[in-house]
Amino acid sequence: MKLGVSSCLIGTMCRYDGTSSKDNFITNILQKYFEFVPYCPEKMIFSTPRETIRLVNTKDGIRVVTSNDKRDVTDDLKNISQVCVEQMQNDELCGFILKSKSPTCGLERVKVYQEINAPSEKKGVGVFAQKIKDNFPLLPLEEEGRLNDPWLRENFLMQIFAYRNLFEFLNSSPSFNDLVEFHTSYKYLIYSKSQSSYKTLGNIVANHEKSPIEEVLNEYKVSFLEAISQKGTISKTYNVLLHILGYFKKLISKEEKEEMLETMNEFKEGIIPLIAVIKLLKIYSKRFNQEYLEKQVFLNPYPKELALRSNVKAYKWDKSFGLEEI
Ligand code: SF4
Repeated sequence: MKLGVSSCLIGTMCRYDGTSSKDNFITNILQKYFEFVPYCPEKMIFSTPRETIRLVNTKDGIRVVTSNDKRDVTDDLKNISQVCVEQMQNDELCGFILKSKSPTCGLERVKVYQEINAPSEKKGVGVFAQKIKDNFPLLPLEEEGRLNDPWLRENFLMQIFAYRNLFEFLNSSPSFNDLVEFHTSYKYLIYSKSQSSYKTLGNIVANHEKSPIEEVLNEYKVSFLEAISQKGTISKTYNVLLHILGYFKKLISKEEKEEMLETMNEFKEGIIPLIAVIKLLKIYSKRFNQEYLEKQVFLNPYPKELALRSNVKAYKWDKSFGLEEI
């Protein structure tokens, strides 16, 4: 499983001052699951150490300029970023982690300086990051800094594993029946992102127009990738848990049902992490031999050792509940 990374994040000494920005989560945890494909556009055209560069708001738009001698290097950086994205076409990446704040790699809120002496504004996007967004609009992208947030981390990891699963599935020359099976296994994971997306995907799978399989798969791919790029919330996840509990409603005692609902409410109130609820649901699923549930990716979306659902902060409320903004 290949993951693109800004080179400096995995310890390459390619920053302007000859240092790296090694990130512990990436190098200690993620390296167990991914093969990293490093990119450093700056290192490919400038020597190290080198003068720093910055985004500057000019009369010709936002340009990339060296800090001391004010050389405009925008075209050089755009050209080498284009070379990098062309290389990415062959790398079959399932996602990319970019270095925050960089005028080359920063995904958002990069400082944009003014030509005259005015305060900078955090509103820019790095040149390479912009090229990736333009060329791979559905590729999972994050910055290393944002991955310190357990909610963004859980969403991103869930997204890249689902992305990988989808492409493995598409590469296996699937039939219509295979598509139904794949789609069914993702029912509750997609529900936890957006119920309407599951409905859209269901209509594609139903294929009322009797389109050829290649067309259906292509349409399914785009809608699936859009669905998994959405963020999960406590309310959507709680809703999925209620759906799953429905499978045992007539099989468990009144006391067991009350205990289960109490556990789910504790998750909703941020007292216990999601994994505690999932563990109980898996026990019931096994006890009552619920094959349909056991195949649900929602219950096992990524290796359990990542322990992303063990943190109560991995889930947030959405705006409609008015408790906390995402
Ligand atoms: S932020 Fe990007 S361009 Fe800058 S050193 Fe890291 S990988 Fe290279």
